Amino acid sequence: MNGLMQDYPLLLSTLIEHAARNHGATEVVSRDCDGVVRRSDWAGVAARARKVANLLDRLGVEEGDRVASLAWNTSDHLELYFGVPGSGRVLHTVNPRLFQEQINYVIDHGGSRFLFVDRDLLPLAIDIATKLPRIEAVIVLNAHPPHDAEVTCLDYEALLSRETDQYNWPRLNEESACTLCYTSGTTGNPKGVLYSHRSTVLHAFGALIADGMALSALDTVLLAVPLFHVNAWGVPFAAAMSGAKLVLPGPRLDGKSIYTLLRDEKVTFTLGVPTLWMGLFEYLASDVSAGELKALPLQRVLVGGSAASVDLIRKFDKILGVELIHAWGMTETSPLVTVCKPLQHHAGMSEDDLYEFRASQGRSLFGAELRIVDDRGDELPRDGVSTGDLQVRGAWIANRYFGGDEPAVDGEGWFPTGDVARISADGFMRITDRSKDVIKSGGEWISSVDLENVAVSHAGVAEAAVIGVPHPKWQERPLLLVRAAAGQVLKSEDLMAYMADRLARWWLPDDIIFVDSLPHTATGKLSKARLRDAYRYHFAACRDLSGN
Ligand code: AMP
Repeated sequence: MNGLMQDYPLLLSTLIEHAARNHGATEVVSRDCDGVVRRSDWAGVAARARKVANLLDRLGVEEGDRVASLAWNTSDHLELYFGVPGSGRVLHTVNPRLFQEQINYVIDHGGSRFLFVDRDLLPLAIDIATKLPRIEAVIVLNAHPPHDAEVTCLDYEALLSRETDQYNWPRLNEESACTLCYTSGTTGNPKGVLYSHRSTVLHAFGALIADGMALSALDTVLLAVPLFHVNAWGVPFAAAMSGAKLVLPGPRLDGKSIYTLLRDEKVTFTLGVPTLWMGLFEYLASDVSAGELKALPLQRVLVGGSAASVDLIRKFDKILGVELIHAWGMTETSPLVTVCKPLQHHAGMSEDDLYEFRASQGRSLFGAELRIVDDRGDELPRDGVSTGDLQVRGAWIANRYFGGDEPAVDGEGWFPTGDVARISADGFMRITDRSKDVIKSGGEWISSVDLENVAVSHAGVAEAAVIGVPHPKWQERPLLLVRAAAGQVLKSEDLMAYMADRLARWWLPDDIIFVDSLPHTATGKLSKARLRDAYRYHFAACRDLSGN
């Protein structure tokens, strides 16, 4: 027997209308590409989202058609987030930091006819449109388009000015697609993940809970994670749902630009990948007084995308009095699956143990399930010791890639994450490595993540990467690459001695190399693939000292 409740589809249009009705006057602040701060509110975003929907009708974009954006975090991009999917089209957010062939590939594969672009990315967009004849027009946000371009360039503001801000959002099937994002694709071509209205709204509910982001109408959120990175981790939708004030930082995410917004807009919550915060702390250390730091109203920062180190957690706590909430997810998982918040029984831990604990990736939110399996696919115990391949399934986890023939999951819906992890009896998950980053030394596994965490806990280290390098005797041995902290002179022997006090001897790196910078992927993660390529022969000439 069915329940007798209403059929109320979970749609992004209902979210933006909820925000307009209930928190219409709450501010949405946006810093443009040229640094100018524009102030609007949720009612204003909703009105312009309706204009976007009318514009897409006029342009003849059909339901289910993809529309691409190549843009930073601005209010123009935010209104596309609601106007495009709310009216039944699919917003394909493209990461401008991908290699150009990858950008061409994902836009071509996504199949968009229109490309919305920020002014400073216009040359890139024109180049793409000349190569991809399917693109009918490039629509330029917040700037006048050139008249003499090889491709049709339209003025977004001029187009919107002709549309009304009234629109009857269609009552879509909640399973219909809303946004499209491609994985970074460290191997092979990037793969498209096609989110649905239902999965996206459920993800926003999941993210909002008190043991998740705990966003409320009292919060001001600085969206430091890009709108082109996995739906900005669902925060635009969670903010519309909760009525938080939203601050969009534009393209500039250096330490000073972030600090200024945190201070001027009285931000209480922010989020982003670890590398972003390293830049912030480098700026704070040199340019901001202790008194000014104490005055910042920031309370919480959610960090994910790659592992938050103990050192970063300690810095947020000690320097800013801010709680770092460590979270884990992937493009294929919308992204949020786990969040690390201590439970009552962790209260008695020492400060160091608590920092260590907070560096784990945490427990799964309701709506997603985790398990670890061995090489044969058999489930391993949740005992905090067994290590295996992490799998996930749930209401906002991908089932199949866009355009893919095969399911991305096994017969029971488990999606293989490519991460290696442990899970404790009370459900806390700790990533020990990416399966392809694990170092296999003499038949035993070494966790590159553990080594990096120890290296960055040294005051002289700003950033560290550990890779497994082929070795004639041991199969692979760890090589540590270090970017020293500004103004620090660090010696290899000293860092090695520091690490020797904290790690098993056979885990210690065979060599340490100091570099000026480390390569990052388009989403700000260390690019170990590039490092492995560059240092592939580093141990090739090594001989076993015992003569074997
Ligand atoms: P992407 O789909 O490009 O966002 O990459 C997802 C991958 O990033 C995951 O499979 C993990 O390897 C890594 N990742 C994300 N969050 C974390 C985290 N908190 N700790 C460690 N690795 C993470």
